[in-house]
Amino acid sequence: METFTSIDAMRAWCREKSRGGNTIGLVPTMGALHEGHLSLVHAAKKDCDHCVTSIFVNPTQFAANEDLDQYPRPIEDDLAMLRDAGVEAVFMPTADEMYPGGPQTHATSVHPSAVALPLEGVHRPEHFVGVATVVMKLFQAAPSDRAFFGRKDFQQLCVIEHMVHDLNLPIEIVPCDIVREPDGLAMSSRNRYLSDDQRQRALCIGKSLNQVEQAFLEGNHDPKQLESIMADHLSPCDSVDYAVVVDRQTLLPISEITQNAVALVAVRVGVTRLIDNRELIVA
Ligand code: AMP
Repeated sequence: METFTSIDAMRAWCREKSRGGNTIGLVPTMGALHEGHLSLVHAAKKDCDHCVTSIFVNPTQFAANEDLDQYPRPIEDDLAMLRDAGVEAVFMPTADEMYPGGPQTHATSVHPSAVALPLEGVHRPEHFVGVATVVMKLFQAAPSDRAFFGRKDFQQLCVIEHMVHDLNLPIEIVPCDIVREPDGLAMSSRNRYLSDDQRQRALCIGKSLNQVEQAFLEGNHDPKQLESIMADHLSPCDSVDYAVVVDRQTLLPISEITQNAVALVAVRVGVTRLIDNRELIVA
């Protein structure tokens, strides 16, 4: 497995590997890898001739009061997992390589579409500008045919899909399903912050989504009622940023589910912020 810290070297590797029409699959991550990330790697390896994974904790998507400094960086474990998974190349640039002179000196950024405004956009106002910008930069550093993103970060996936469409980027976005722990907790790098008690309480997130899905499948298509089912189940959390049922395309509120919808949750358990979601597909 090759590792690259320089954009030029990473780009040269992609150019070389794509000779003769071979396809490259890119899996962007912030490291602290788990089975959720590896599911994207497996999908990329299955779909593409070559697979590259990036590990970069992007400073511009964290607000000043967020966990940038504490974000886990177990780089040796990550590299071992990627080697075992059969990844050929890892792009792990420094912040200086991605933002020479520091992020503050960068005047150019990607301002995502309206789908970035609600939900996370309200609670983390600069987050998606940071995400869209760094993903755009990763697409330039590791030019690939396909990029694999998890449905775990549902709104992020929407933002990236819109960016690729709106800016005519020559890359296909491949959404991948949420991977969960056996007890239903969606895998997340932030789960390692949870104490035993907090982890037990966090199980209410998956349970609330199960209840909503069950009610929906039994014919309840009223978002307000579904949201109150979710709220009832989320009481073990310390706070709820949002627990909503919205249109799956626009992420805007709806009065009745007549087209595909999605239930989206963001909560805090202790100081740890967790997100999860469940798509509600109209038969
Ligand atoms: P992160 O390292 O948190 O930025 O995540 C990198 C990629 O892995 C994103 O596309 C996430 O949506 C995806 N991902 C994270 N957790 C999961 C999960 N539990 N199941 C599937 N994909 C995931």
